[in-house]
Amino acid sequence: MSKKGSLIVVSGLSGAGKGTMMNRLLEKYPEDYALSISATTRDPRPGEVHGKEYFFITRDEFEKMIVEGKLLEHAHYVGNYYGTPREWVESQMESGKNVILEIDIQGGLQIKEIMPEAMLFFILPPSMEELRRRLEHRGTETPEQIQKRLDRAEEEKKFIDKYNYVIINEDVEKSVDLLHNNVLAKNELK
Ligand code: 5GP
Repeated sequence: MSKKGSLIVVSGLSGAGKGTMMNRLLEKYPEDYALSISATTRDPRPGEVHGKEYFFITRDEFEKMIVEGKLLEHAHYVGNYYGTPREWVESQMESGKNVILEIDIQGGLQIKEIMPEAMLFFILPPSMEELRRRLEHRGTETPEQIQKRLDRAEEEKKFIDKYNYVIINEDVEKSVDLLHNNVLAKNELK
């Protein structure tokens, strides 16, 4: 029987390039990883599809999931709820996949509490200036929302030392391999 997969938390300052990194990781190693799809109450960005980037649900639906214990973790982030559906994550890990949760720090710390063996990666942009530039370039948030995300990023930086690994994402290819090699090493030790 195949070994159970690892749970991998990937957090980072909004705009650090996590999304691009995760797409590349799955493209390179499709057999090894499964990316969890979160539920959220935020509105879809142009091009985002229900069931692909997120499950876009109402506040009432979200609160019902909390009450019914259907979320592994959840958090409030800049005015909206975000959470990880439990069942899918557990079944993927059982089948041997390393499951990635691309979640914020509050969520990451909850996971660390309930599953201390999870691997927590924190992704940093090369600089805060670069972070602002990437957020502006993405063009999906208003200047006010960008400022809120940058303020939040300053707050989140304080928790970096709670994470097991920190990756400065200068080069996507290198960052992806760094993450992958750490996961392989950890799984070897199981
Ligand atoms: P965005 O609105 O840019 O898609 O996501 C905002 C933040 O919420 C990001 O830091 C993202 O990683 C985080 N996030 C996405 N899904 C979840 C989740 O299921 N749980 C938690 N705690 N954070 C999430």
